[in-house]
Amino acid sequence: MAKRNKVTWIANKNHDEFHRVEEGVPQPEGCQLGEILPDNRIEFRSAREAMSKRPGRKAYDPCAYCTKKFRSRH
Ligand SMILES: [Zn+2]
Repeated sequence: MAKRNKVTWIANKNHDEFHRVEEGVPQPEGCQLGEILPDNRIEFRSAREAMSKRPGRKAYDPCAYCTKKFRSRH
């Protein structure tokens, strides 16, 4: 089995977007992950979890830049 880099999914508490973070791989140009303050970061174990409904709020949307690979599967 090929070794895979660790992937984490990070959302900004104050926005409706989540990002895909792959260990050892820089974020693509346009992705604003770096602008999320540490205090506003929410970490998910999977994209499914990030997209699941939050009580009283709309679910997170995938970032158009760093989640491209993931989106293309839809
Ligand atoms: Zn992003």
